[in-house]
Amino acid sequence: MQSTILIVEDEPAIAELLAINLGFAGYRIIQALDAEEAMGLIGGELPDLILLDWMLPGMSGARLAERLRAENRTREIPIIMLTARADESDKVQGLESGADDYITKPFSPKELMARIKAVLRRRAPQLTDDVIALSGLRLDPATHRLWGSTADGEVPLDLGPTEFRLLHFFMTHPERVYSRSQLLNQVWGDHVYVEERTVDVHIRRLRKALESTGQDQLIETVRGSGYRFAAR
Ligand code: CA
Repeated sequence: MQSTILIVEDEPAIAELLAINLGFAGYRIIQALDAEEAMGLIGGELPDLILLDWMLPGMSGARLAERLRAENRTREIPIIMLTARADESDKVQGLESGADDYITKPFSPKELMARIKAVLRRRAPQLTDDVIALSGLRLDPATHRLWGSTADGEVPLDLGPTEFRLLHFFMTHPERVYSRSQLLNQVWGDHVYVEERTVDVHIRRLRKALESTGQDQLIETVRGSGYRFAAR
């Protein structure tokens, strides 16, 4: 799944450099020149990660990070702060304001990519292309393939695109219980208006797809709460 990165940077040369490099790396880019414009964009669509310049005209990057962390809807967005300051105290302040990581300008595109991947891996592993193997299932996000293990070895399993994303999310967040509305936000995206029972329909399809190898048992219903993927 293509991840969307919001670049908030008032210096056009740096913004362009970032957009070009991230575009080449396969990310979808949206851009804002200041915090106010960024909030407008975020209001319309939640990005998967924000590259946030510290020194912005008007509201600072650190202040914007604080505001995003204070709201339920935006609290979980990974943020990497960009800054010209190399000062240790600023770094601490940046991380305290809610940033996940910190990059000092000038930075190499290679370092930037590595930091983005590391933050996504930690904060949003369902957005990375890492192969994941758990509880007898092996899922490859890059090729959209899934295998289930049986006594005779692995067999390929067929999943629809929504069931694939759902299972990818579950496998990267095992043992935790998610409500239907949480799953809708995480797997369908926010601002997508679908009914909660849609989740049940796709859970049913997912279980059916895993039935032949017996891994349908891993998708547990937690009465009154939602669903959980069991790590066994
Ligand atoms: Ca700036």
